[in-house]
Amino acid sequence: MKNGKKPKGIPLGNLTVSLPKPLGTELRPKRLVFPLNTPWGDLAPHVRPGGDVSLGQVLALDNSGIAPPLISPCSGKVLGIRSWATPRGGEGPAIAIQCTNPPAAERRYKDDGSWKQFDAPALIKRVLKMGIREPDPYRWPLAWRLAQPGLAPAELSNGPDTSRPIEYLIVNAIDRQPGVSLRESALSGRETEIAESISLLERISGARNIILAVRKGQPISDSLETELGRRGIKIVMCPVIYPIALEPLLVRYITGREIPMPEGDARAVGVIVVDILSAIRVYRSIRDNNPFTPILVQFSIPADSVDYQMWVPEGTLVSELLEQLQLSAGEAAKLILGGPFLGYALHTFDVPITAEVDSVVIQSAPQVFLFENSPCISCGYCVKSCPMGLLPNELSRLCEYENFEGAEKSSLFHCIECGICAYVCPAKRPMVHLIRFGKREILKMRETQQ
Ligand code: SF4
Ligand code: SF4
Repeated sequence: MKNGKKPKGIPLGNLTVSLPKPLGTELRPKRLVFPLNTPWGDLAPHVRPGGDVSLGQVLALDNSGIAPPLISPCSGKVLGIRSWATPRGGEGPAIAIQCTNPPAAERRYKDDGSWKQFDAPALIKRVLKMGIREPDPYRWPLAWRLAQPGLAPAELSNGPDTSRPIEYLIVNAIDRQPGVSLRESALSGRETEIAESISLLERISGARNIILAVRKGQPISDSLETELGRRGIKIVMCPVIYPIALEPLLVRYITGREIPMPEGDARAVGVIVVDILSAIRVYRSIRDNNPFTPILVQFSIPADSVDYQMWVPEGTLVSELLEQLQLSAGEAAKLILGGPFLGYALHTFDVPITAEVDSVVIQSAPQVFLFENSPCISCGYCVKSCPMGLLPNELSRLCEYENFEGAEKSSLFHCIECGICAYVCPAKRPMVHLIRFGKREILKMRETQQ
C-alpha cells in the first residue's frame, strides 16, 4: 500500500486532546423530531398525525429503496407531520412524536450470538433495515457502500453501482475537525467491541485491505493493537492536519486514489470509508437485532465549562437536551450544530439532533466572534490552502453575484465545505456561506426543472 500526498490544510501541531467526560445521565426525551429530507430523496411518512406508534415501527420509507428507513426508537403518538427547523439551517418536513415510553440512549440486550452465523447477503439487508444514518455526507447510504458486487441490499434497477469489488475498507477514527474528540474517546476502553465492529464490516463488504485510520500520536492500547493485528486489521497513522478526516482527503492519503468529483463516490475507485462511530452502531444493531439509533454527541457550553460526551436518542431537540441536563441557555447568543468548521449556526433551540450532528456548541455573547467582511485583496491565501485545489475567492464571488452557471463550471460541487478558505482569509470573506448558498440555489433550480 502506498500512502498518497499529505493534504493541504491547517497543521494542528502536537495535539494533546483532553477528552470531555462522558456523562452518566440517562436522557429520556419527551418529544422526538425526525426530518424527512435525505440527500437521496424525501422519505414518505408511514404514520399519520394523532396515530399511535410502537417501538421499532417504521415511521417513514424511501420509495426509491435507497435511503435507510426511519425507525421509531420509542412508543408514543404522532404529534404531527409539519415543517420543522433542520440541523443544516432552513426548514423541511418532519415527523414529531410524543414519547409515552421515552427511549433509553443505551439499552442492554442479551447477545445470543446468532448474528455470527449470518452470511453477507443477510447482513447487508440488515444494515439497510436498521436505518443507520451517518455524520458525513457520503455519496450513498452505508448499506449500498458496503454491498459486495451482486449483493445489493435491495433489488433496484436504478440503485447505486455496486459492481466494483471493495479493495479498501477504511474505518475512520480521526475526529473530523478541531474541537471534537468523540472518535478518539471511542477507541479507548472498548477494544473487543471496536475489533468486532471492524471485523463485521469486513465480513459484510468482503474488502481485501482493512485499515483503521488514526491520527499520528493517537494513543492506542497494546490490547487493541494486538486484537487488531490478530484479525489482520492494519493501523495507519495519518498527519495531524485539518481536514484529513474528510473522505476525499483520507482516501487520497491512505490509498493514493482520487475520488472522482463532483460525484464523490469512493466506491468508484474500490474504496469505502466508515466512521468508527457508525461501525459501532452497525455492530450493536446487528448483535442485538434492534436498530441502535442513538448518536454520540459532544455537547459544549464554554461559558459554563460544560463539555460532555453522551449518547443522545436520535431526534432529541436541543431545547429538550438542555432541559434534561438542567442547563439554561439564558445567556446564549449562538447555537452551532455540527462543529466549528463544518457546522451550521442555528436561530432556534427547537431543532432536532440527527445523525449528521456530532457536536452541539452554545456560545454566549462574549465568545461570538463578530466581524465586518471587506472586499477581497487578492492575497491568494485561500487558493494556496484549499485542499481540493479550487479557487475559493472566485467561486464565492460567482455565488455572491448569482452567476451559478459560472460557479458550477468552476467546480462548485467539488468543494467539501471544510471552511479553511474562510478561516485563512484576512478580509474575512464568508466564503463557505456563499458556496453553500450557490449549491442550494442550483439544487433548487434542478428540482424545479424536473
Ligand atoms: S473552497 Fe471548499 S474545499 Fe476549498 S477551502 Fe473552501 S470550503 Fe474547503
Ligand atoms: S484569502 Fe480572502 S482576501 Fe485573500 S484571495 Fe482569498 S478571498 Fe481574497
